[in-house]
Amino acid sequence: MGETVTVKPEPLRAAVRHICLAAGSNEREATLVAENLVLANLSGHDSHGVGMLPQYILAAVEKRLVVNQSVRVTSDFGAILNLDGGMGYGQVIGHEAMELGIRRARQTGACIVSLRDSHHIGRIGHWGEQCAAAGMLSTHYVNVVGRPPLVAPFGGADARFATNPYCCAIPPSQPGGEPIVLDFATSKIAMGKVRVAMNKGEQVPPGTLINANGAPTTEPRTMFDGPIGAILTFGEHKGYGLAVIAELLAGAFTGGITMHEGSWAKNTITNNMFSVIVDPAKLGGADSWRREVDAFVKFVKAAPKAPGSDGVQVAGEPERRYRASRSRDGIPVDATTWREIISAGESVGIGAAQTNTAAGL
Ligand code: NAD
Repeated sequence: MGETVTVKPEPLRAAVRHICLAAGSNEREATLVAENLVLANLSGHDSHGVGMLPQYILAAVEKRLVVNQSVRVTSDFGAILNLDGGMGYGQVIGHEAMELGIRRARQTGACIVSLRDSHHIGRIGHWGEQCAAAGMLSTHYVNVVGRPPLVAPFGGADARFATNPYCCAIPPSQPGGEPIVLDFATSKIAMGKVRVAMNKGEQVPPGTLINANGAPTTEPRTMFDGPIGAILTFGEHKGYGLAVIAELLAGAFTGGITMHEGSWAKNTITNNMFSVIVDPAKLGGADSWRREVDAFVKFVKAAPKAPGSDGVQVAGEPERRYRASRSRDGIPVDATTWREIISAGESVGIGAAQTNTAAGL
């Protein structure tokens, strides 16, 4: 399987930037993509980190991803903004969509951002964090089309939709405080984590996958080779239910599409996202929410540790723990992923030595 490399965040950003620039992105786009992907790795979500770059570069080269694209406002109803991502880099489209939504929510108290047709927008927590950093509450529902289905419906034995993520972010209750960021795929694990397991030569946990015959398996290759299996939804009928809602809010109501025959003809990753951004200063709890959030979190975290547990955390804490340790110690990138990144660079004229040097290797 080869050696895992460990790369410090800034050199890793530099390597990603070089490759994006060579694939035609302007400086701003290359920087946004690099920051977004490396932050996902720093947060412990390697599934949505630099390992996505080879897919992005191939899509850019084949014009399934449009470089240097900006989000386009297709209609503006004040508290509702309808946006078209034009298949641009999700790292740019998501950023611009949230900027527009936050600005509007400051004026109106709330903004529904209805975004269709972005290329992969990565870790959805990134967008929740952008809203939270601006003092806004937000919730985000995403569907994924453009590629064949990956996830089986509860009670079904083959894949009918994708890993449809959900995110809700609560802004910090105090200046300098930390947000609560709940952000997950509605499948038992994100597809990127199946890829990471395969690249590392590992099995996935039991109860995560079924093979093409509908039988349980722990082999990640079942999602990549031969007749494809499916990932199961988390939380049985409840996670499945949330996946359906994400599919419909993001796919049907934004002007995008939902998963059905023909939805994956483009053979690229398309995300649609339905976001609700709210200014807490305009809600009934304007004067009390900070106190109530703090009191609740303190109460919950005071629960005695369950046997074998490290204690109670709230969403967003695991990512911050990863950020602290990986900022200090560097980001591990498995050998297969690093080889794929080197090849992506080579495909746009950046030699292996250049990529390794940029990454400080
Ligand atoms: P996950 O299963 O690791 O869950 C992460 C969430 O659970 C975070 O909010 C985290 O803070 C919280 N959490 C984890 N451990 C906790 C604990 N002990 N106590 C309290 N909270 C805890 O996430 P996932 O399902 O593997 O998703 C990974 C990423 O993939 C997400 O960022 C998601 O947005 C992204 N994703 C993106 C797409 C796309 O198409 N763009 C599709 C699917 C998933």
